[in-house]
Amino acid sequence: MQEDIQTTCAIAGGGPAGLMLGYLLARAGVDVIVVEKHGDFLRDFRGDTIHPSTLEVMHELGLLDEFLTLPHTKAPKLTAEIYGKQVTIADFSRLPVKCRFIAFMPQWDFLNFLAQKARGYPNFRLIMDAEASDLLVEHERVSGLVVQTPQGRVTIRSQLVVGADGRNSAVREKAGLEIERFGVPTEVVWMRLSRKPDDPMEVMGHAGPRQGLVLINRGDYWQCGLVVRKGTFADVRNGGIEAFQRLVNEVSPLPADRVREVGSFDDVSLLTVRIDRLKCWWREGLICIGDAAHAMSPIGGVGVNLAIQDAVACANILARPLREGRLAQDDLAAVEKRRRFPTRATQKLQLMMRGKRRAGRDDADRQERKGPPAFLLWIARLPLLSHLAGRLIGLGFRMEHIRPQ
Ligand SMILES: Cc1cc2nc3c(=O)[nH]c(=O)nc-3n(C[C@H](O)[C@H](O)[C@H](O)COP(=O)(O)OP(=O)(O)OC[C@H]3O[C@@H](n4cnc5c(N)ncnc54)[C@H](O)[C@@H]3O)c2cc1C
Repeated sequence: MQEDIQTTCAIAGGGPAGLMLGYLLARAGVDVIVVEKHGDFLRDFRGDTIHPSTLEVMHELGLLDEFLTLPHTKAPKLTAEIYGKQVTIADFSRLPVKCRFIAFMPQWDFLNFLAQKARGYPNFRLIMDAEASDLLVEHERVSGLVVQTPQGRVTIRSQLVVGADGRNSAVREKAGLEIERFGVPTEVVWMRLSRKPDDPMEVMGHAGPRQGLVLINRGDYWQCGLVVRKGTFADVRNGGIEAFQRLVNEVSPLPADRVREVGSFDDVSLLTVRIDRLKCWWREGLICIGDAAHAMSPIGGVGVNLAIQDAVACANILARPLREGRLAQDDLAAVEKRRRFPTRATQKLQLMMRGKRRAGRDDADRQERKGPPAFLLWIARLPLLSHLAGRLIGLGFRMEHIRPQ
């Protein structure tokens, strides 16, 4: 079966960026179709951090109270153990917003919520199990998406195509957009360890000479991310599960036997962390947002929130020209201009925090760094800096607000 559909905006990717943009455009009266390659949103160990800036967006949309009825845990601050002492590294208590905390919520709950709200608009359509595989191009202008579904090929013709298909975006590749890469990739090994009533309440970070461990309180379990240099995990894997357990125990504040809950490498999920961004986010008829435009490091857990902020800026700038059928290249350039600064500034900060150099310096980078990163030591010395860190993590460098349409 081959289907040919017409819409105003075709969005590839039903992640935070794509679904939020789909919702906002539909709310503004624009015809929109989101295609998502998976059949559901059930993916574990994704960006599960809903920051104060995203909660403020939900508040401005009048969705906050209902949203916060979904199961979540609140983190009013982030702490780390430095040389045996608990230090607040990011404090959200003074932010000028409604919610002064990070809400930890499974990403699938967040996405299901957005999809359900968007489906309330008759001009919104979400097609699941639909993978964008190519672009329609006419006279150098992108004019739609080619999508593969179990029922066959679908072509979607549109004024605008949005690549919101994540860090391995097929859309940006097909569009020939050029990527700049920064820093040296690291690896995060995600796993679950049970949480007992006597355990601390907060999100914690622990730094060791070769690795760091982040523990996120998810109610009855800790979501743990072991951060290691790229390539380390392959070595540890060769050493067997006990070698891995020992590596975790070197930095884990939990009783040593807890890590035995990770009984095999099937219980962990590996994320290769990289920082990159597009040199130019758009070409005529197409723009990329979220991870498709810029993959972030997990430092600060800002990926979801930057994706949401991109979607808000995109809807603010593009809804009217799309609705009125007069979308111009300048509009796409305006979205990139608005979001380029916060993206660059956040990535620069992440690179400084990692203390890493440009790609290609692997050998120099392999030299062991001892102790916690310098920025943690600064915050330990000057506790007021934890409020600045709270602001940069919680609100980012440029916070977007829902504009009346
Ligand atoms: C293991 C892991 C842990 C993370 N932890 C955090 C964290 O704690 N905090 C944080 O803020 N961020 C975290 N991130 C990053 C965060 O998930 C992303 O920054 C954020 O989800 C980006 O949103 P997005 O919508 O741009 O892209 P994505 O969330 O990647 O969504 C892209 C969507 O597009 C779909 N897709 C891909 N290709 C196609 C295609 N060809 N056609 C149709 N659909 C397609 C994908 O299935 C996906 O649903 C983590 C990422 C990973 C992988």
